[in-house]
Amino acid sequence: MDFVAARAKLIEHLSAEIKDKRVLAAMSHIPRENFVPAARRHLAYEDGPLPIGWEQTISQPFIIALMTEALELIGSEKVLEIGTGSGYQAAILAELVTQVVTVERVPALAESARNVLDSLGYDNIEIHIAEEILGWKRGAPYDAIMVTAGAPNVPSDLLAQLTIGGRMVIPVGSRHIQELCKVVKRQDKTVVRNLGGCRFVSLIGKNAWEK
Ligand code: SAH
Repeated sequence: MDFVAARAKLIEHLSAEIKDKRVLAAMSHIPRENFVPAARRHLAYEDGPLPIGWEQTISQPFIIALMTEALELIGSEKVLEIGTGSGYQAAILAELVTQVVTVERVPALAESARNVLDSLGYDNIEIHIAEEILGWKRGAPYDAIMVTAGAPNVPSDLLAQLTIGGRMVIPVGSRHIQELCKVVKRQDKTVVRNLGGCRFVSLIGKNAWEK
């Protein structure tokens, strides 16, 4: 299968809606097939989510692009991702900013993401195993936070790890269906904008969903 051609076609498709050229450029040279289990590699450039084991999924490329664009990254940021999963989203963030911290609760996923990211030469991604408090407090504050699992609400523990002026993208809703929310933390208030419907696996933990 010609992954290069398939990837170019996917990026072309995404560019109808996604206007951030840096996001499209990052996605146009990251081999998504490396982040997908071998048996599904032929589907790597379909615009859909794919199972990655442990009942988890690598998100749909369009949603990934939309969420990344919403973070309004210019290059010098430190970004936190919740839910490393395959590591694909972390790779995109690593192309766009100085420093990426990503947290995963399934150790086996964190380990395989580490292997793929190392094999591609990324040296600006820290991967941590999730602890009791959501996020990674020791690295806070972050200029942007991307949550790639669905939460019942915007967790205050994550909001606390965001800088003033920082952006967070997070799916909020029920366990089965959510709205993608863009949260901007201002000095005086927090502004939330709805970017549309989505379906994510559950964010598990304190102030989120039970296992
Ligand atoms: N961003 C990933 C997709 C993530 S799927 C990618 O690019 O492939 C959501 C992930 O969130 C799952 O791997 C799940 O184990 C993880 N997760 C769920 N709750 C979490 C928590 N509290 N902290 C860290 N990771 C969590």
